[in-house]
Amino acid sequence: MPSRANYLRALEIDVWERRDLPKTAGDSPAIALKQAPPQASRTKPAVASSAPEIELDVHAYAAAAAATAAMDWDTLEKTVQSCTRCPLHATRTQAVFGVGNRMAQWMVIGEAPGADEDRQGEPFVGRAGQLLNTMLNAMGLAREQVFIANILKSRPPGNRDPRPEEVRACIPYLYRQIELVNPLLILCVGRIAAQTLLETATTIGKLRGKLHHLASGRPMIVTYHPAYLLRSPGEKRKSWADLLMALQTFERLSQSQGT
Ligand code: URA
Repeated sequence: MPSRANYLRALEIDVWERRDLPKTAGDSPAIALKQAPPQASRTKPAVASSAPEIELDVHAYAAAAAATAAMDWDTLEKTVQSCTRCPLHATRTQAVFGVGNRMAQWMVIGEAPGADEDRQGEPFVGRAGQLLNTMLNAMGLAREQVFIANILKSRPPGNRDPRPEEVRACIPYLYRQIELVNPLLILCVGRIAAQTLLETATTIGKLRGKLHHLASGRPMIVTYHPAYLLRSPGEKRKSWADLLMALQTFERLSQSQGT
């Protein structure tokens, strides 16, 4: 069985092991203090705002959100698959509902499907998805153990950022998924998902490393998006620190809930 150190090597995080101690599978290794490149500070809001917002009928939107909040898994999945609440339905190959254990204690939330996910109908199946799997494995979690979903269920063309009206139309589906899964802890990956769920423009650099709570009170930890980590591997060390914090938080929450 591969040790956590092996997974960290797969993440291409340098692992320093003390030679004077016996090796234990799963031990948290010391991580090399390789200097990460400075991160440009970005204060972009969570959703793309360049395009004009489409005026949605506020009442129709509220009614759709209320109906979604009462759906069971089957109805929710069918509704998402045939959804036309925003214009992205016209350009997607298929909606990407979410995947994994519907009774998971962990939920992973990303931004939106990319080209691979749009083609295969499953979140995080491309290169970023492979890195996400490695990150989960390093935490001692299998992909099948968690539930993975996105803010948007349809791919924005060219992988552009989600637009506010798309988020408003789609996010009730995610909120319902969160209620149905009822996870102990949410791991939110990436700036867009974090800023959207926390309704803030604070940079991801400031959002990571803290325990947050959604408006519903659900605990959530934020880390970098795996696609960002592929572009900026020097940040993987910080992301690993976030994952360790998530594990410690999870442990504390399980103990306080007696699970
Ligand atoms: N990026 C995301 O945020 N979600 C996916 O499903 C794939 C890539």
